[in-house]
Amino acid sequence: MIKPIKSYSDAVAFHGHSCPGLALGYRAAEYALQRLRADRSEDEDLVAIVENDACGVDAIQLVAGCSVGKGNLILQDFGKHVYTFIDRKSNRAIRFVQREEPVIQRIDPVASALREKVMNGKATSAEQKEFQERQSAVIDTILKMPIDELFIIREVKPEIPVRAKIFASVQCAICGEMVAEHRARVRDGKFVCMPCSGEYGRGW
Ligand SMILES: [Zn+2]
Ligand SMILES: [Zn+2]
Repeated sequence: MIKPIKSYSDAVAFHGHSCPGLALGYRAAEYALQRLRADRSEDEDLVAIVENDACGVDAIQLVAGCSVGKGNLILQDFGKHVYTFIDRKSNRAIRFVQREEPVIQRIDPVASALREKVMNGKATSAEQKEFQERQSAVIDTILKMPIDELFIIREVKPEIPVRAKIFASVQCAICGEMVAEHRARVRDGKFVCMPCSGEYGRGW
């Protein structure tokens, strides 16, 4: 039995706020479920590969039921607004590439300009209010727009990046904490963890 797809307000509750990024992720996940006719995944049948770690990913987690802990959300932080959904049952995959021109800019250039000001803390309270109103109109538009105007959508070969489940651990020579071998770095011939090696990335 196909369960109803979670609503956008469920996604807002999960994410903590409504924003264009969340709305975009919501549309992708909703469409993927409809097209793959997959249920919200309870048993890892549906795999999502996300290529950024921004707001939209939260909608995908909620709507598609994919999470890092279950192993069916694969985060490849390439900084791209690209999402691939793989249905392991039917062995089909759909890839969503967000259209290049920022959607908010296309829908409402004024909101886009105001956004800059708000982000830089340079907006007056009247401008902030105007931005909020325009932004929620932009979100409403995203939720109703034809999906093809938001994403380039293609069926692709279902390829799940291989990930070994169990890794050996090594001890960091600096802090003494254990770290999975494939995440460790080597400094002066000794294993060290990423924070101790001076790499300040987020570890992905
Ligand atoms: Zn957000
Ligand atoms: Zn360390």
